[in-house]
Amino acid sequence: MATPDLLIVGSGLFGLTIAERAVTQHGAKVTIIDRRDHLGGNAYSERDEATGIEIHKYGAHLFHTSNTRVWEYVRGFTDFTGYQHKVYTNHRGVVFPMPINLGTINQFFQSALTPDQARALVAEQAGELAGTDPENLDEKGISLIGRPLYEAFIKNYTGKQWQTDPKDLPASIISRLPVRYTYDNRYFNDTYEGLPAQGYTAWLERMADHPSIDVQLSTDFFDESQPWNKEAVRGRIPVVYTGPIDRYFDFSEGTLGWRTIDLETEHLDVGDFQGTSVMNYADAEVPYTRIIEPRHFHPERDYPRDRTVIQREYSRFAQSGDEPYYPINSTSDRETLLAYRALADAEPRTLFGGRLGTYQYLDMHMAIGSALSMADNKLADLLRA
Ligand code: FAD
Ligand code: UDP
Repeated sequence: MATPDLLIVGSGLFGLTIAERAVTQHGAKVTIIDRRDHLGGNAYSERDEATGIEIHKYGAHLFHTSNTRVWEYVRGFTDFTGYQHKVYTNHRGVVFPMPINLGTINQFFQSALTPDQARALVAEQAGELAGTDPENLDEKGISLIGRPLYEAFIKNYTGKQWQTDPKDLPASIISRLPVRYTYDNRYFNDTYEGLPAQGYTAWLERMADHPSIDVQLSTDFFDESQPWNKEAVRGRIPVVYTGPIDRYFDFSEGTLGWRTIDLETEHLDVGDFQGTSVMNYADAEVPYTRIIEPRHFHPERDYPRDRTVIQREYSRFAQSGDEPYYPINSTSDRETLLAYRALADAEPRTLFGGRLGTYQYLDMHMAIGSALSMADNKLADLLRA
């Protein structure tokens, strides 16, 4: 097996972007390894055998960005549909639009308030905390939208997602909670939005489709029985590592905390279960946070009219062996991360990137944007080293 100019650990969007840049801009020969049996990382999707519906294996993925460079870059690999994400939430058996907007407010208060009247009402209801500095998510939520809306739509949903009382969560989690005083209920504010027209996997495979990119699946960087393992390549071959940073250093500074999700998939003999792609469940009594019905991501496709598939999503703390999805970022996590960053800076011929390699929640466009910056600023030196 020829030695590559660059070894990339992880075939998610970060690793794929680095691979494509290394080959196209530097003429490098690249090997990508991934311990999973497919490429694409968490953005991977597959066709449900029973219905043909495209399922996002690791949770619903919606592409959106305001970064023109990223938008132009990704459109080199796929077309996008005109899908615009909208979310609804079920509170006590009644469905409301999310994020909180004039439609949500008027439905909740059974009113027909104008934007100014709604603003005045929310300001009055948020008044109980006037003049105080919110110390936790609970106080921050009440000060942003008032207690009634906060308790209906945010408090219990957030509690379920984080498995923590919002009084014990930092205010920062919802400091930019969107509240719109119009009837606009688009979920994202970004300039560009859509879903890959031929599906995520076709897009991701196209990024790796180059004679100088060799993808080796079911290959773990820490498995010493395969040639591209850490001990064999460390300091010898340039590496871009996108796996968990704490694992790279054998957890020497402690483990970083993550949340994971469980998806419970069910097939149903109805053509349409909920009429929309994502329905949140705001109440504490419902154990899942939301139900995804993937057929609605592609209304343009010819899916069966008598069957559908749904996924109930449950959120919990990750244990060892679980997929790490969302960094918890507690105070102690942040201290641990600083210790790992110092080790990473001293690591010979290895760059750390992506969601797991930097312990950061990154949307897809952020992972791609950050890989493009790494390619601009660091790749030439790494390949020369
Ligand atoms: P990943 O996709 O996680 O790829 C890392 C890869 O490294 C994985 O394939 C893994 O198998 C591999 N790896 C790890 N360790 C090893 C090892 N030891 N050896 C070999 N390979 C290894 N973004 C959006 O823009 N919109 C959304 O709607 C959205 N929804 C999301 C929903 C969920 C539930 C989650 C978890 C994420 C969501 N994201 C969304 C974020 C999106 O998944 C990330 O932006 C993207 O996955 C980042 O790519 P990455 O390459 O950094 O990481
Ligand atoms: N949120 C909420 N109620 C909702 C939707 C969101 O309270 O119906 C809050 C919650 O704290 C959540 C945050 O907003 O953690 C971000 O929500 P989003 O669904 O965008 O998070 P995702 O799980 O998709 O990252």
